[in-house]
Amino acid sequence: MARKPSGKIQKEKEIMTKKKRYCYTFEEGDGTNKKLLGGKGAGLCSMTQIGLPVPPGFVISTEANVDYLEHDTFPEGLMDEVHEYMEDLEKKTGKGFGNPEKPLLISVRSGSALSMPGMMDTILNLGLNDETVKGMIALTKNERFVYDAYRRFLQLFGKIGLGVKDEGFDEIFEEIKKKYHATVDTELSAEAMKEVCERFKEYIKKETGKPFPQDVWAQLYIAIQGVFKSWMGKRAVDYRRQFNITPDMAHGTAVNICTMVFGNMGKDSATGVGFTRDPGTGENVLYGDYLINAQGEDVVAGIRTPRPLRELKTDMPEIYKELVKMRSILEKHYREVQDFEFTIEQGKLYMLQTRNGKMNAWALCKTSVDMVKEGLITEEEALLRIDPDMLEQFLHRRIDPDFKQEPLAVGISASPGAATGKVVFDADRAEQLGNQGEKIILTRVETKPEDIHGFFAAQGILTSRGGKTSHAAVVARGMGKPCVSGAEGLDINYELKEARVGSVVIKEGDIITIDGTAGVVYLGAVPMLDPDLPKDLKTLMEWADKYAKIQVWANADTPEMAQKAREHGAMGIGLCRTERMFNEADRLPLMRNMILADTPEERKHWANKLLPMQRQDFVEIFRAMDGLPVTIRLLDPPLHEFLPTIEELISDVNRLREFSQIMHALEQLPGTVAMLDPELSKQIPSIESMIREFAEYRAKGLDKKLLKQKEKVLRRVRVLHEINPMLGNRGVRCGISYPEIYDMQIQAIFEATAIALREKIDARPEIMVPNVCTVQELVWVKPRVENIHKEVEKRYNVKIAYKFGTMIEIARACLRAGRIATVAEFFSFGTNDLTQGTFSFSREDAENKFLPIYNTEKILLHNPFEILDELGVGRLMQIAVTEGRETRPDLKIGICGEHGGQPQAIEFCHRIGLNYVSCSPMRIPIARMAAAHAAIKEKKGVAPVARAL
Ligand code: PEP
Ligand code: MG
Repeated sequence: MARKPSGKIQKEKEIMTKKKRYCYTFEEGDGTNKKLLGGKGAGLCSMTQIGLPVPPGFVISTEANVDYLEHDTFPEGLMDEVHEYMEDLEKKTGKGFGNPEKPLLISVRSGSALSMPGMMDTILNLGLNDETVKGMIALTKNERFVYDAYRRFLQLFGKIGLGVKDEGFDEIFEEIKKKYHATVDTELSAEAMKEVCERFKEYIKKETGKPFPQDVWAQLYIAIQGVFKSWMGKRAVDYRRQFNITPDMAHGTAVNICTMVFGNMGKDSATGVGFTRDPGTGENVLYGDYLINAQGEDVVAGIRTPRPLRELKTDMPEIYKELVKMRSILEKHYREVQDFEFTIEQGKLYMLQTRNGKMNAWALCKTSVDMVKEGLITEEEALLRIDPDMLEQFLHRRIDPDFKQEPLAVGISASPGAATGKVVFDADRAEQLGNQGEKIILTRVETKPEDIHGFFAAQGILTSRGGKTSHAAVVARGMGKPCVSGAEGLDINYELKEARVGSVVIKEGDIITIDGTAGVVYLGAVPMLDPDLPKDLKTLMEWADKYAKIQVWANADTPEMAQKAREHGAMGIGLCRTERMFNEADRLPLMRNMILADTPEERKHWANKLLPMQRQDFVEIFRAMDGLPVTIRLLDPPLHEFLPTIEELISDVNRLREFSQIMHALEQLPGTVAMLDPELSKQIPSIESMIREFAEYRAKGLDKKLLKQKEKVLRRVRVLHEINPMLGNRGVRCGISYPEIYDMQIQAIFEATAIALREKIDARPEIMVPNVCTVQELVWVKPRVENIHKEVEKRYNVKIAYKFGTMIEIARACLRAGRIATVAEFFSFGTNDLTQGTFSFSREDAENKFLPIYNTEKILLHNPFEILDELGVGRLMQIAVTEGRETRPDLKIGICGEHGGQPQAIEFCHRIGLNYVSCSPMRIPIARMAAAHAAIKEKKGVAPVARAL
């Protein structure tokens, strides 16, 4: 396998042969080109170029990986290039690859354009074999250290390069630790480490049928291949799917080849990870963990619990000073909080990686505001740092501060928020139970990247080892899930599926609560509170509103929701679903009666009973939204939503009939029994008294009346029954069929406005008609609105301003928008129904019937009820906007389907010129942020990402 380096200079070769180039030294790579060099590679190049101490190395581009995966072989010329770059590395370090006297050891690390922590593979200490080990011992005079490095390499190489099972290595290592009575690896002697190496080699041979490759070039070849393949490894693929990482965002991994430096060369060596600011609070302080005499993987994997970086100030004051200096160099260069890895080798500091720090929403907000104040970034940049969806983390619950109870265990506050769930000790089981809808706390000694599916399924993560930068902490923080790490009082036994804390035993399935903000664990469920929005968010929201063009309104059906919407900064109500006001127990029967009425008079009777309730709710909503528009939609949903099902009614009717028969039989009973068995008849008096009570009830005819009522309802429900209620007599169709309902609602709206105006509330109603497909429907409704308006104005002696508009949620309405705008003063896209109609997918069934398979088969990449289908539904919207505004240039247009709170859809709505989006009150901050992003990105000329479904 050993091939001699060609010795040609790469650039010359490139010019001469015009062959594709795959390798870049850290000095020459373009640090801004993450797509080509991966985030890690780009970071190493940038750090080298801004003068930070990075060990020499080079990057194999992502293009090489893509080519490799396509053809299942290295691209032509790649290995020649690698040889040349290795030769260059040998020159820079003065060492030789495979040279037994002065061995060059390298790390082979993965790294794609987007950070996917721990999802792909990395091999350290490559270049060690039985010969170079001797050279290393001679050079370092530290046999233990060298064998430690060798065993680490054998394990990683065996696992990643040769596909040998990791557990086998762990078992051997544990066996040897036991043999030498060592509790931690640092207690193993050189001899013991040597023994580990021998055993590891035997294990590799046993598992692969071949000896471990001593040829360093063969090692390199296999290692590059292993890293390349890890792009398609299960956990990497799962991760990309979960976070919607598409090929246009990250395509393939780069391979970073870097000279090894060692943090495990004694007490003057260390390894650590740092953040330029605290990623939990956003505080402007150097933050991180380190371990003396250890390699990077020890910190990240959480195998040993590291020490906080501030203690380095006393351990190694000079290095600490250097790190503080680097912190500001990094932030000035990147204008972003950095998350970096470093190693101290015998008193010398090396930077091994930097990337934008993943922070929780709290820290993101604080650092954004602080960095603007410090003059490091602009307001617009501060806003763009915040992924709108991240603000959802503020929605996480926290433990009621009044709750006082001794925690079961104390650990590290690794990711904020609190969660209650059943303890589950492995990721597969967590996934299984999570899919069944169970709430889970994934509880592990430490987590590894292969546990990622368990994270997705869990409400929170609990580990007994590891610090704030352990795998569990980093991943949970990124996902916005609560995590307590390093709860060392927890003694977890996977075999018995239990954890012990002193005398308390927690079994799988027991309920616990974790508080990731405080770093504590409680037994059982504890009271929780909804969180408040942090102070910095207010500033950011003010900035967001300053830049946003599209407004954010709320979908709010009740006064309480309106209040919440206003608190969150809604500029109006874009959808008040009037039917939702009748969901409460005391209102539903009235609503049912109105729907079930046989005659207009009867319907009017029930409608009049509903009127005062509806009117009062409107007054309260107007009060909450004083001075802002309130769009009230006339009754829309298919009526069956309010009615009992035919099956329920049949069973009720049958039960009532049986009851009548039983009563009849009971009445005969005393006489019959007296004749047949005089003894038994002594017991009859109790039955007789029961019969007397029922007889009274029957005498009044109540049983028959009830039966009749039920039978009537059943008949009516049968009449109203529709095969396809979603496409049936709903919305304006129902309003036209039963005008008393709309009349009542219109009257309630105007009367509420009049009452509010009298109270000096600036009420601004906008009446919206749902499910319109032709302008003629509006032409039918409008005069009724005008008449009632006139009547109420006269009766209350007030002037009432209002708007009359329509939902656009039927495909035909989009195509006839020009005509519809002759009557409608505003449009609001109901993209829930519009999506249903455009795809002919039932919005009630598609998501749990065929859509999942459409997604896995990649027929559709997303659920169109969640992600707006810009190409289809969006196209219809665009037609409606253009043609509607041709008729009425000042036509106000919004969206109130679920997509109105979804950032990409908001960007699309901004682009096609909508005036507002309307979403649920809790999503308002997200929508405001997304609205600002849309405007800023447009200004900066950032091309929108095409949303293929
Ligand atoms: C819609 O269809 O998008 C809409 C907002 O109305 P609903 O969901 O109430 O049908
Ligand atoms: Mg609708």
